[in-house]
Amino acid sequence: MIEIQNLHKSYQMGSNSLHVLKGIDFSVKEGELVSIMGSSGSGKSTLLNILGMLDEADEGSYDLDGVLIKNLNEKIAAQYRNKFLGFIFQSFNLINYKNALDNVSMPLYYQGVKRSERTDKAMHYLEKVGLAQWAHHLPSELSGGQKQRVAIARALASDPKVLLADEPTGALDTKTSYEVMELIQGINDEGKTILVVTHEPDIAEMTKRIVNLKDGRIIDDTLVNQVKASTHV
Ligand code: ADP
Ligand code: MG
Repeated sequence: MIEIQNLHKSYQMGSNSLHVLKGIDFSVKEGELVSIMGSSGSGKSTLLNILGMLDEADEGSYDLDGVLIKNLNEKIAAQYRNKFLGFIFQSFNLINYKNALDNVSMPLYYQGVKRSERTDKAMHYLEKVGLAQWAHHLPSELSGGQKQRVAIARALASDPKVLLADEPTGALDTKTSYEVMELIQGINDEGKTILVVTHEPDIAEMTKRIVNLKDGRIIDDTLVNQVKASTHV
């Protein structure tokens, strides 16, 4: 599903250059649930942003579902994001003046789905995350965990090939974090390919494979012992 080779990324700041990704190689198969773990500043978000076509690498190749991702202009990048990807962020990134249902409908609007069908689909995904009865509430009326569930429903609405989650539990308490990760596990059980960026080992252990990033390099890539992971549940 994802194949990257020798990815490099530097940020320029005035006359200084910060080399953040120093040759990343890895691949993700369809149906995997993978965490990218590392301490703050190790380059996790930089990597995820490149995978999400929100930024571009300086060097290396990126293949997504058989499509070579290269020299994208903003319009093509937006099309690919819509077609292939769903995003989940630490800060939820919901639209504050739209209710839960309308937030979940947004990606469908951009896909050109007609209104009645949008509402049905959005409701379906809200039900899936256990929030049907909150459909007409604004984000400000929801708890952090509920907001993230709405964001997950929104990410699922366009039936993306891959879900990219950047610190999805970063703003949540421990119990709510595990609940959100259990929801993500359930979505993966249904076959969705999911990448979760986190700096928390407990969260990473709730995925099936941990890719450890340090100073812009992968230092470890291991399958999680599923028995151990289930002790959280
Ligand atoms: P992580 O998500 O693992 O905390 P990031 O990928 O956000 O790490 O950042 C890696 C490094 O790159 C950090 O030192 C950070 O300060 C720097 N960095 C991130 N984004 C930018 C940017 N847009 N411009 C300059 N430096 C950046
Ligand atoms: Mg980050």
